[in-house]
Amino acid sequence: MSRSAAPVIQYLRQLEERGQTHVNVNEEARRILREFYLRARNAPASPVLPSAPATQAVERPKPSPSTETPSEELVASGNSPAEKIASLRQQIAHWPPLLQLKNLRKTMVFSVGDPEADIMLVGEAPGYDEERLVEPFVGKAGQKLDGILKAMGVERSAVYISNIVKFRPAMPNQTTNNRKPTREEIEACLPFIREEVKVVAPKVIIALGGTAAHALLDCDDPVGKMRGRFHRYLGIPLRVTYHPSYILHNEATTEKRKLWEDMLSVMDLLGMPVSEKQRRYFLPKSS
Ligand code: URA
Repeated sequence: MSRSAAPVIQYLRQLEERGQTHVNVNEEARRILREFYLRARNAPASPVLPSAPATQAVERPKPSPSTETPSEELVASGNSPAEKIASLRQQIAHWPPLLQLKNLRKTMVFSVGDPEADIMLVGEAPGYDEERLVEPFVGKAGQKLDGILKAMGVERSAVYISNIVKFRPAMPNQTTNNRKPTREEIEACLPFIREEVKVVAPKVIIALGGTAAHALLDCDDPVGKMRGRFHRYLGIPLRVTYHPSYILHNEATTEKRKLWEDMLSVMDLLGMPVSEKQRRYFLPKSS
């Protein structure tokens, strides 16, 4: 009987995401897993892909009618984290579930930053400015994010900045307007963020806004309910906070303070020094 490992892997990954590290297997399961193992061992090894410069624009190729069954096993090949990230970047251009989607634009806006960073930030999807400059978080929300990182005393180049969806969601007659990615678009991209997290292995992940938080934690609670504590994604502490664009549109000091408190807790977790001035940002001035 022909068996596919994909549903088993997907199920195990779901357990792993929920923090489960062990599963009980009976004799039959053991036999099937051994079958998968032997098949994988006898398969040809994946090639090491060359790395690509971070700002190079890569277009999604048109879906081509293929007689081959597309492989949906994502493998970050290479020796160093930089090589592995480059290999993911190469693979997303040909990722079958994405090729089937019609409503994502063509320019890939892949992640930037240090592939060995302690802090990984995850946003939603590129917008107009990001697509134009082929880099995540470079528009107004990006400038806000840069300001937050600066206030934390962290260089933008020292963190890893990613989006759940790596292509700008398309709209009819689109100019500078952006839309949120659909569930289908998010699901097609999810294997990439998962692999990026595994490769970068950050000490902490910051989910910027609801789309990132919901996609990573597989829930739909409002950000206000999810922020303020640490969650876990693949065993790594994950802090949910407001998207910088929410702060752009809601300048209320109380909301900025909430975002800042999430950042202070990240700094505390990483053992970063926090000055008294930083600790007091956006607090009401005492008389
Ligand atoms: N908003 C996001 O979520 N990501 C970007 O890259 C830009 C804006």
